[in-house]
Amino acid sequence: MGAIIDALTELQHEHGHLRSGDLEALAARLGVPLYRIEGLVSFYPHFRREPPPRVEVALCRDVSCRLAGGRDFCARARQALASVPGVSVREVSCIGRCDTAPAAAINEHPVHAADLAALVARASEAPAAAAAITEGPAPTRRWASDPYGSEDERYGVLASLRARGASAEEIIQTLKDSGLRGMGGAGFPTGLKWEVVRKEPARPKYIVCNADESEPGTFKDRLVLDELPHLMLEGMAIAALVIGAEEGIVFIRHEYGPERARLARALDEARRRGALGKDALGKDRPFDVRIAVSPGGYILGEETALLECLEDRRGEPRNKPPYPGQRGLYGQPTLLNNVETLSYVPIILKEGPEAWKARGVRGATGLKFIALSGDVERPGVYQVPMGTTIGELVALAGGTRDGKPILAIAPGGASSNFLHGDAVDAPLDFKALAERGSMLGSGAVLVVAEGGDIVDLAANVVAFFRNESCGKCVPCRVGTEKAVTMLERAVEGRGSKRHLALLPELAETLAETSICGLGQVAIAPFLSVMRTFEGEVRARFTEE
Ligand code: SF4
Repeated sequence: MGAIIDALTELQHEHGHLRSGDLEALAARLGVPLYRIEGLVSFYPHFRREPPPRVEVALCRDVSCRLAGGRDFCARARQALASVPGVSVREVSCIGRCDTAPAAAINEHPVHAADLAALVARASEAPAAAAAITEGPAPTRRWASDPYGSEDERYGVLASLRARGASAEEIIQTLKDSGLRGMGGAGFPTGLKWEVVRKEPARPKYIVCNADESEPGTFKDRLVLDELPHLMLEGMAIAALVIGAEEGIVFIRHEYGPERARLARALDEARRRGALGKDALGKDRPFDVRIAVSPGGYILGEETALLECLEDRRGEPRNKPPYPGQRGLYGQPTLLNNVETLSYVPIILKEGPEAWKARGVRGATGLKFIALSGDVERPGVYQVPMGTTIGELVALAGGTRDGKPILAIAPGGASSNFLHGDAVDAPLDFKALAERGSMLGSGAVLVVAEGGDIVDLAANVVAFFRNESCGKCVPCRVGTEKAVTMLERAVEGRGSKRHLALLPELAETLAETSICGLGQVAIAPFLSVMRTFEGEVRARFTEE
C-alpha cells in the first residue's frame, strides 16, 4: 500500500478511529492536501471517523447468509444485544464465511453465529479476548494440487527450475499447453498473460496476487491462503523468474485476519528456504513479497481499482486499455493473478501439462477449488476435477439440506446468472457453463432448495452491487439504486408491472455504459431469474 493508506491504517489501529487532528498532522507530514486524505477516508469502508463501540458485531446481509435466515438472525441479534452496554450490531457486505452462514464477526474476528451470544459476553468483558476466538489448529489436510509430500520438499519446483536454468519461454509454453486459466472470474489464459508482461521492455515490473475475493458465495481463495499459501508464493516466485520482477504484493481483504497471519508465517518460511530474498531467483536476483491489507470494498477485487488503492487513490476502476500488463502499478508492467491460479503453477511445472489436463473430466482441464454454499448438508470448499457436474459436487457435500429438491443454482458467485435446479448435470467448466447461459466465474456454487424465495435472493444480489458500486459511473451509481427501489417493492409483492418491463432496458443500459464488470452485470442475475422463474417473478409485480 502507499504511504497514505498505510499511515491511516496505523493511526486507526492506534486510536481506534481517525481523529481530525491526526489527519491534519498526517497531511502536513506527507505534504499532501488534507482533502486528498479525507477523500480516501470517506471512500474506504474500513476507515472510521468516530470511536468504535466496545464490541462491534458484524452480520452479513448478503445472499448465502440471507438464504440461511440471515435477515431474521440479524433482527434477533439486534433485539438480544440491544440492552448490552457498549455493543453495536451492524449489517455488512459478505465477509467471506458463507460456509458458516449466517456469518458473523466480533471486532472483526469471524465467529460462528450459534456462539454469538456467549462470545459477545466474553468480548464485552475483555475486548482483546476476541482476538483469540478464531485461532484454530494448523491445517493438515492433503490437497490434490499440492505436489509436495512433506514440508521439507516445498519450493522444490522453483529450486529445480533455477538449477537447470529453465527458460521463461519454456515455462510459458508449459502453462499455455496446460490450459490454465485465471481462477478469479475472468478466465484469461495464464500463459498468455505472463507472456504479455514478459515482453514489455519497461522496468521495474510487479507481480500482484489478488487475494481480495469479496463476492457473496466466494471463499475458496481463503482456503488456499490458509492451507496452501506456500504454493501461491512459489507461483509468484516462478512468475517473477519469467517476467523479471523483483517485488510482489499479496493484496488481501481485511476480513481475512486469521488467513493473513497464516500467510505471514508462510512468507517467513519461504525466506528461510531461500524462495524469497536476495538470491531467490538465482545469484543476486532478488525477489520478495509483501502483504497489503485492503481498506475495504468489493470493488477492489477489480484489478485496476486494486492498483488505484495501492497507489493511495480512491479505488475506482480505470478505463482499459491500457491493461495492467502494459501499464499497471505506478504505470509499470504488472502481472495480476488470482490466489488459486498461482497455486496451480508448481504442480503443472512438476508434473507437466498433459498430467494436469488429465486431472479434468468431460473434456475439461485440471482441478478446481469450488466454494459451495446454500442449502447443502456440508457447505465448504471442495477441490474437484474441472468438469465435475454440479450434482456430483452437491453429492460430495452430503446432498441438499434435508434432501429437498433443488430449485435454483448460481454456479459462479453472485454475478453469475441463476440456472434452474435441473441444471445439476451441468459440468463446472468455463465453456460448459457459458453454453448454459451462466458462468464459472469465481468458482462459487450457491444451491437454493425448493422453498427458497428466489425473487428475494436475486433482488438481494442486485442490492449487493448497489451497495458496492464505487459511484464513478452515473449509470451504475443511479441505475443500481433505481433497480433496488423497484425490486424492494416486488419482494413485498407490490412490484409495478411498468417496472418489470423497464428492468431489462435498465440492465442493458448499465451493461453498455458502465466502466467495469460490476455495473455491467449488476442487474443480470435478476434478469436470469425473470427468464427462468417467470411465473414467480410476475406474481410479485402486480400493481399498475
Ligand atoms: Fe464504479 Fe460501477 Fe462504474 Fe464499476 S461500473 S467503475 S463499480 S460506478
